[in-house]
Amino acid sequence: MGLPRYARNDNYISINQRFLSLSFLSPEATARFISANIPSRTIPVTQIMVPWHEIDSVFLDMDGTLLDLHFDNHFWRELVPARYAEANRLDLDTAKSRLYARFRDKEGTMEWYCVEYWSRELALDIAGLKEEIDYLIAVHGHVIEFLDGTRRAGKRTVLVTNAHSKSLALKMARTGLRSHFDALICAHDFGYPKEDLRFWKELERREPFDPETTLFVDDSLPVLRTARRYGIRHLLAVRRPDSRSPPREIDEFPAIDSFEEIIPARNSPEYENH
Ligand SMILES: [Mg+2]
Repeated sequence: MGLPRYARNDNYISINQRFLSLSFLSPEATARFISANIPSRTIPVTQIMVPWHEIDSVFLDMDGTLLDLHFDNHFWRELVPARYAEANRLDLDTAKSRLYARFRDKEGTMEWYCVEYWSRELALDIAGLKEEIDYLIAVHGHVIEFLDGTRRAGKRTVLVTNAHSKSLALKMARTGLRSHFDALICAHDFGYPKEDLRFWKELERREPFDPETTLFVDDSLPVLRTARRYGIRHLLAVRRPDSRSPPREIDEFPAIDSFEEIIPARNSPEYENH
């Protein structure tokens, strides 16, 4: 015997009311919300809700967040070791093991992100090599729609990157993303990477924001931890920075598979004011 008719109606109405109260969600997120509220053991629920009405500023990392990390991974793991091996008459495996150890030593420091540091250290033209494979620079899916959505909703939308200004310039030229931001912030201008609390103090001085009403999205967990210590309220990780690698399990922060999940909806009340 099925459910009594009135019980089905109640269920329908309650989903519908909750749907209306969540109209700031993107259509995909709304669909997931509805799916999540229909009793079923077969529908996976990975819903992220961004309370857009509480957010004024959106800070976004570049490599691995907006752009596919495949370019950077290929560059540092394959191309640089290959050229280093040639220049130093080493076999590729030896070059890789030496370089990977040197890279690990510098992880999370300003030097790790510095084109000039590695050009000097490895005696290679790092900026020139990046240009050689610039066809691999790619924007993750739905990023443009997301950026257009946040700006349409009146959120100050800022790129916040540890990348060196030469890498930043190459990536903006290749992707045409520049015009989608209100500002670009390069950690090299401050002298501290995002992993350092001093970066965030300097950022607040140069690009005033309220940590309580700021959304920050980054693929680096150490960076997200520092942002959390600084007090940034809305933090999101990226599950799949490199499109050629499998998605990561992330427990520490809410995480997205795609920006499609968090595009502010066109019918959001936020748009009425802009
Ligand atoms: Mg990144």
